[in-house]
Amino acid sequence: MTDYPTLHLLIDGEQISGGGRETEDVINPATEEVLGTLPHATSADLDRALEAAQNGFHQWRRTSADKRAAILAKAAGLIRERAKAIGEPLTLEQGKPVSEGRGEASYSASLLEFYAQECKRIYGRTLVRPEGQRAEVQYHPVGPVAGFAPWNFPAINVMRKIGGALAAGCSVIVKPSEETPASGIAVVQALLDAGVPGGVVQCVFGVPSDVSEHLLGSPIIRKLTFTGSTPVGKHLAKLAAEDLKITTMELGGHGPVLVFNDCDVEKAAEVMAANKFRNAGQVCVSPTRFLIEESAFEQFRDIFTKRTAALTVGNGMDKGTDMGPMANARGLDNVAKLIANAQDKGAKLLTGGERIGNQGFFHQPTVLSDVPLDADIMNEEPFGPVAILNPMAGEEAMIAEANRLPYGLAAYAWTDSPARRRRLAAEVEAGMLAINTGGVSTVDAPFGGVKWSGYGSEDGREGVMACMVVKAVHEG
Ligand code: NAD
Repeated sequence: MTDYPTLHLLIDGEQISGGGRETEDVINPATEEVLGTLPHATSADLDRALEAAQNGFHQWRRTSADKRAAILAKAAGLIRERAKAIGEPLTLEQGKPVSEGRGEASYSASLLEFYAQECKRIYGRTLVRPEGQRAEVQYHPVGPVAGFAPWNFPAINVMRKIGGALAAGCSVIVKPSEETPASGIAVVQALLDAGVPGGVVQCVFGVPSDVSEHLLGSPIIRKLTFTGSTPVGKHLAKLAAEDLKITTMELGGHGPVLVFNDCDVEKAAEVMAANKFRNAGQVCVSPTRFLIEESAFEQFRDIFTKRTAALTVGNGMDKGTDMGPMANARGLDNVAKLIANAQDKGAKLLTGGERIGNQGFFHQPTVLSDVPLDADIMNEEPFGPVAILNPMAGEEAMIAEANRLPYGLAAYAWTDSPARRRRLAAEVEAGMLAINTGGVSTVDAPFGGVKWSGYGSEDGREGVMACMVVKAVHEG
């Protein structure tokens, strides 16, 4: 039996709850039972956090890169030691299989290890000038950062908000999702335990729109970083623009997968079926629209469907579970609506298609084929366990379909042709392109999108530079 921790705010290093604050229940998506009660920050709490973030920023930006790196590395070590204690509650609140919950905690430590090393790699440059003159390009931390993270990767997304900011020398106030708060609190606590000052990293909760309006309404916050849906991202970008705060937006996607007949079709189907249903498809870079060259279609379809139908769906805490419940009832309803609409428009249901049971938000892994373009699911991100397999007539049509939507986060391609790989890299509109692999996320590579999938990057060198401003210094 895994205990779910007591929940609190973390403001200026202090654990805060009670005191007549508003609260909300956190629900286990596998059982619909209440796991815990989460306090909301009051307006005074948020003001206190802002003041602490301002003071923390001035302290942290003057802390040497070596010291910042050592503290962040120590925090990463603590997160690794606590991977079980962070990962199991993460599964309780979010639903994913517990091996993935623990793996997520460890990956958030890997991210922090990378960011710790990047503290020391923030370089400016010296410009050529005549004797006696000097000109430099310098990079400085932008200031206190507000980070709003979603519920699908509650530890990783929180770390993406924090890691780049702390490496750059910024302070950060993070708001993890109220639906999955425990893992975010645990990550922030590890940073505090490792020696990050209390005003430098803080964790708040509340009604999301109230918290974001309060924090973005303050001149103290100089940068916003948000992961979530495109409509909320557009709204927050407008709020940030009122005060010209810089922003990183990691929003929705609708991942196209271009499968060409010159690839290893069996491997492509096996790898992508496993990838598609990870975290019940609630992944912004999830492969969603499979665009398969006609002559490879039947082979890909049969292997992919067989592999999907063999997945074991269950409580994430149970051994042998391949796919847990969806994280919330909204997602379940959305998927049901999209599948029904696709079938009405003439799509074929190859496997799945139904909710499982009536307790917990379980849904069958589902494969649709021959889905017409006017079905809602061809245009709206399903963010759930549904794959669309459509036969396509060659490269040009496949690239055109990949680029048809306003989204451009992750795209995937399977082909053995080097020339085609280069064409795809040039032509596919996406922030990330995976060729002959299912992976697009590594700590050292930028993670982000184009078009309606957002702008700016997290991870990699770009994740640190996104929290810096540039200054040209001229000496006569
Ligand atoms: P949402 O955009 O309403 O919520 C996503 C996150 O943003 C949540 O954690 C929420 O608390 C927060 N949020 C919402 N409004 C906010 C506001 N005004 N200020 C600050 N934070 C706010 O989406 P949802 O209903 O939770 O999920 C629906 C869709 O969101 C999905 O179908 C998917 O398209 C998208 N989504 C994307 C990601 C991603 O990783 N890019 C993650 C979660 C959800």
